[in-house]
Amino acid sequence: KTVTAEDIRKSVEDNDVHFLRLAFTDVNGTLKAVEVPKSQLDKVLTNDIRFDGSSIDGFVRLEESDMVLYPDFSTWSVLPWSDERGGKIGRLVCSVHKTNGEPFEGDPRNNLKRVLKEMEEMGFSDFDIGFEAEFHLFKLGEDGNWTTEVPDHASYFDMTSDDEGARCRRDIVETLENIGFEVEAAHHEVGDGQQEIDFRFDDALTTADRVQTFKMVVREVARKHGLFATFMAKPIQGEAGNGMHTNMSLFKDGKNVFYDKDGEFHLSDTALHFLNGILEHARAITAIGNPTVNSYKRLIPGFEAPVYISWASKNRSPLVRIPDAEEINTRLEMRSADPTANPYLLLAACLTAGLQGIKEGRRPMDPITSNVFEMTEEERVQRGIKPLPSTLHNAIKAFKADELIQSALGEHLTQSFIDSKELEWAQYTQSVSDWERDRYMGY
Ligand code: GLN
Ligand code: MG
Ligand code: MG
Ligand code: MG
Repeated sequence: KTVTAEDIRKSVEDNDVHFLRLAFTDVNGTLKAVEVPKSQLDKVLTNDIRFDGSSIDGFVRLEESDMVLYPDFSTWSVLPWSDERGGKIGRLVCSVHKTNGEPFEGDPRNNLKRVLKEMEEMGFSDFDIGFEAEFHLFKLGEDGNWTTEVPDHASYFDMTSDDEGARCRRDIVETLENIGFEVEAAHHEVGDGQQEIDFRFDDALTTADRVQTFKMVVREVARKHGLFATFMAKPIQGEAGNGMHTNMSLFKDGKNVFYDKDGEFHLSDTALHFLNGILEHARAITAIGNPTVNSYKRLIPGFEAPVYISWASKNRSPLVRIPDAEEINTRLEMRSADPTANPYLLLAACLTAGLQGIKEGRRPMDPITSNVFEMTEEERVQRGIKPLPSTLHNAIKAFKADELIQSALGEHLTQSFIDSKELEWAQYTQSVSDWERDRYMGY
């Protein structure tokens, strides 16, 4: 259904909306917003809200800093919280444009739209995505800041009903449903305080917008329960980290072109070619999907996170798994990305790699049938199974060596991504940690 300016005006009146929140995402995946009072509604609806882009990470320099917000009407939603005086906040996801009206290349959302257009030019209609974003809940301290104390000590799929973590999870699910999400699953994860909530797959742009909203809702609802939600990849050493499994399928004329009822694992040749593109560019994609120093502390053996570039149907140890499913649900599940990834950049990179795989038409390596962690190094080399990058530094190097994945981001975002991540790595290498003091103080 299309949402018109009139629909939004009516919804503003019907729901007693006082403020309009115009949301967009910076290169690091951080959700940003300009909030204006209802009196500015006309300007909002006619692409006339301007802001200074120079202070947004990875946007522009001071000289050329004026930016304009173009709201995507289909993303309209009334947030289920009220402001101090009882009014509601209406939210629109926006694309960032330059003052001459052109889409701004540094906006990750515009960039994903550009890559989706390339997909359409190849004859496909939809890149469908289902994310499984995991997160941890910690108790808030008296000062309102996070602590490292968890609200529960439950485990995978435990159904405890009397702890704050479970109550909070149910509140998140209901809040999401109130703003139009179809929540398919919600459960406790393996780690203490760790949760997963999955909402139904949809086209890439919609799903990227939704996961940004999802993270905002999770954080806000957690606070109401005296909890702090984090999506960092590995908040607790020695415990499960937070992944964001990325389930991908490609559609043409309403049909999932990854499905072939006679194919092995029900996969079509197109799916295998797409998969090969993902595997060949996996190292560079990791920079985008695992963009923090901490991300690499999750990609280690023993916690259901991938370390090696391989694929399988049942086994959960490789990078890509083929879940047992048919027709519209046939998909590739990439298991490397974590929820600190910028979803727009991640999906642009995966789609570009997959489409390149389809153009080249090569089949992937054989699927593995045993646990990749139990193979000897020799066996892995023999099968051509390479490791994922082991640090952010190595991932950035892989990204800088991969022209295809750079083209998936375009020049502007490639540069701002590299600048941002090289700075992060430099700061990390210069920081002195507790681990170092514990280890070296006695030297
Ligand atoms: N937490 C695991 C990860 O880091 C995934 C666990 C699961 O969903 N099976 O990816
Ligand atoms: Mg899951
Ligand atoms: Mg999970
Ligand atoms: Mg999964």
